[in-house]
Amino acid sequence: MENKRNLGTICIQGGYTPKKGEARVLPIYQSTTFKYDTSEQMGKLFDLEDTGYFYTRLQNPTNDAVAAKIAELEGGVGAMLTSSGQAANFYAIFNICEQGGHVVASAPIYGGTFNLFNVTLRKLGLDFTFVDPDASEEELAKAFKPNTKAVFAETVSNPSLVVLDIEKFARLAHSHGVPLVIDNTFATPINCRPFEWGADIVTHSTTKYMDGHAMAVGGCIVDSGNFDWEANKEKFPGLTEPDDSYHGIVYTEKFGKLAYITKATVQLMRDLGSIQSPQNAFLTNVGLETLHLRMKRHCENAQKVAEYLENNDKVAWVNYSGLKSNKYHELAKKYMPNGTCGVISFGLKGGRDESIRFMDNLKLAAIVTHVADSRTSVLHPASHTHRQLTEEQLIEAGVQPDLIRFSVGIEDAEDIIADIEQALNA
Ligand SMILES: *Cc1c(COP(=O)(O)O)cnc(C)c1O
Repeated sequence: MENKRNLGTICIQGGYTPKKGEARVLPIYQSTTFKYDTSEQMGKLFDLEDTGYFYTRLQNPTNDAVAAKIAELEGGVGAMLTSSGQAANFYAIFNICEQGGHVVASAPIYGGTFNLFNVTLRKLGLDFTFVDPDASEEELAKAFKPNTKAVFAETVSNPSLVVLDIEKFARLAHSHGVPLVIDNTFATPINCRPFEWGADIVTHSTTKYMDGHAMAVGGCIVDSGNFDWEANKEKFPGLTEPDDSYHGIVYTEKFGKLAYITKATVQLMRDLGSIQSPQNAFLTNVGLETLHLRMKRHCENAQKVAEYLENNDKVAWVNYSGLKSNKYHELAKKYMPNGTCGVISFGLKGGRDESIRFMDNLKLAAIVTHVADSRTSVLHPASHTHRQLTEEQLIEAGVQPDLIRFSVGIEDAEDIIADIEQALNA
């Protein structure tokens, strides 16, 4: 894989290079199956003795092209698309952590991921310790157990917008012999490439900025190829010991740097089947072609909106790391010098009820569950995405009850600000 091209070029050209007479645009391979001439050829594919397409649940050329583009954007060795961001985070963890395993996870993360970990994966026998990402390394080290298999966090957390000290988390994970898994949905590889700071696995909800047009739910897992599973053999038997479902192959021996992502594809995807449809992969790819342009505009607009809000006396507080007053301003400058994302959070004087009244008066900004869309969108997490959480869990997840999540789109900033102004004054 080429890693030398610049990000804008990869957005446009990555993953698919047509040969003479082939379609200029990535085709949608709307086919469940692929043809072979002999029974033996097909048999070799099932034994992983040969590579090739045979069934879309395992691999599809449209999906693979999009996965390759995202892998190149992140600087990884391989990637796999999933049906959603939820599936991506589930597979990313379950690929290396089974019943009896433990994960150290940052507490301020997406509500869906928090529920996945804290409720559903606990039912499968996985254990989690949620930590304050701003705590000292000594404090964070206390969360590790002998059965810890991974550390999980978000680059910029949804919706609390905590900026992660990635190097600190990578150091902690590696000194305990486990990989750092980063959900890079909000920053996107345009603004942050976590592998360059020591992360080992990156996940995405491609539903957000990558699609960018609110058309296709999807997810992705990217493998840096950097984590040495063999060096921590006893922790990762799924990768370093024979897989009975493939006549005893050992992923690290057979696939080297691609061990993790190959296992996720040929074992987890084969058995659990949360594939992205080729149609959705095609739409995701159209979104990716303008990701570098859109992220720049999202960040510019968000900065203007954040500055407007900070100077408005009806606003109680604003959280956006682009503001000099922000707690995470320095970390954001280090890890994301070109901006973090287009999402801002803020609260109004008058609290929760006033926040809801304000949202109902917005005209250009729409109340939708979605975030990171080209259209400005707004949500009240305590009433919507995080509604299942108790008041205590809300605070732990960094979600104040009056928090408004404002996802600044790529319309003209003046119009977005005018809409906010009329809703504040209504
Ligand atoms: C939305 C989101 C997810 C879940 O993704 P879906 O595509 O909705 O399943 C995971 N992580 C983050 C940070 C998200 O914003």
